[in-house]
Amino acid sequence: MAKRNVIVVGAGSWGLACAYACARRGMAVQVLEAGTIGCGSSGGVMGALAPHTPDQWEPKKQFQYEALLHAHDFWVEVDALSGIASGYGRIGRLVPLTTPRSLELALMRIETARKLWHGEFDWRVEKGHDLIAPRFMPFGVIHETFSGRVFPARAVASLAGACRALGVEIAENAPVTALGDRKVSGDWGDLTADAVIVASGAEGFGLLDAYGDHPTGGGVKGQAALLAVDLGAAPQIYADGVYIVPHAGGQTAVGSTTEKTWDDPLRTDEKLDAIIAKARAICPSVGEAPVIQRWAGLRPKARRRDPMLGPVPGLTGVFTAMGAFKIGLGLAPAVGDILARFAMGDAVDLPKSFTFPHHME
Ligand SMILES: Cc1cc2nc3c(=O)[nH]c(=O)nc-3n(C[C@H](O)[C@H](O)[C@H](O)COP(=O)(O)OP(=O)(O)OC[C@H]3O[C@@H](n4cnc5c(N)ncnc54)[C@H](O)[C@@H]3O)c2cc1C
Repeated sequence: MAKRNVIVVGAGSWGLACAYACARRGMAVQVLEAGTIGCGSSGGVMGALAPHTPDQWEPKKQFQYEALLHAHDFWVEVDALSGIASGYGRIGRLVPLTTPRSLELALMRIETARKLWHGEFDWRVEKGHDLIAPRFMPFGVIHETFSGRVFPARAVASLAGACRALGVEIAENAPVTALGDRKVSGDWGDLTADAVIVASGAEGFGLLDAYGDHPTGGGVKGQAALLAVDLGAAPQIYADGVYIVPHAGGQTAVGSTTEKTWDDPLRTDEKLDAIIAKARAICPSVGEAPVIQRWAGLRPKARRRDPMLGPVPGLTGVFTAMGAFKIGLGLAPAVGDILARFAMGDAVDLPKSFTFPHHME
């Protein structure tokens, strides 16, 4: 690579979305990945892209709204460049209503959804839906048409392909062990660039800890499964804490657990069995469909709940794209765009809760 404008640390959905956005703006990009592409949280099976509730609007809900709004065009473009299907689809979502209060709120949100989603997507309240067992929706069901899905492992493969098509170099088995001003180091030596983007996921927060007053973040384990059942382009379901996400190719994902402590971050166990059993009960069409894959990973959670984006205090030309937590696939297009603007030296207006200093308060 003749001139390296940007180094990206980590080849998960956020690192690759950043690399892609930088390359699209004409920057020369080098990605350094400790393991293999998509070996972290992004290599899973769920991929629900669901919006925040359309009320009490605030900058972070607007940020996510815009990310989901542009998801279709983003994945169409990425897939066309890579020749790999990310599995993106705007399939909508069903959320059963279980109390009179939830029905009352859902009815109120018909109007706020129309306003906040600018009439582009529906938020309907229906009496029921044949995908959901009646006992799980005693007060009906919300059917919104904004939610989408991608298949995470394939989406990462597609992003990597699109990055390479734009000339991005991706080095695997190249862990970064330290950061400096516009610099990264490993046992392979030092590399410099105009800008460094750190997108190293749950196990990579340690790179940043020296620059904050507190540990910057860590991992929250999740388990999910992929079942052999073809729900076509049916809406995804979020019921009783369980997501059921129809994917292309006759597969449906169910998940996920949320575990703050664990012995083995990658092992699945009886907690996943319980999720699968609940999914079978909620959605009769899932029935006794065989399990194709059981999967566990660590969601990267910054010290506070929100993403941690932008400049790292005490370092010049180093920016974070960390804290994807539970909605990383949904935010990836917007995060890539924001970080590319940081890398170019543009002024960027971020929700305050997304900044490094906020996470240290
Ligand atoms: C069970 C489960 C279900 C989920 N469901 C959904 C969902 O439905 N919708 C959704 O949007 N999100 C979901 N998520 C969350 C989503 O997977 C994450 O938010 C997102 O993938 C994180 O992307 P990332 O690029 O930040 O991290 P990662 O994908 O973890 O990537 C970080 C990369 O950095 C590399 N790395 C680490 N340290 C270094 C280093 N020192 N040097 C170089 N490279 C390094 C890692 O090897 C890894 O490849 C789920 C997660 C789990 C576990």
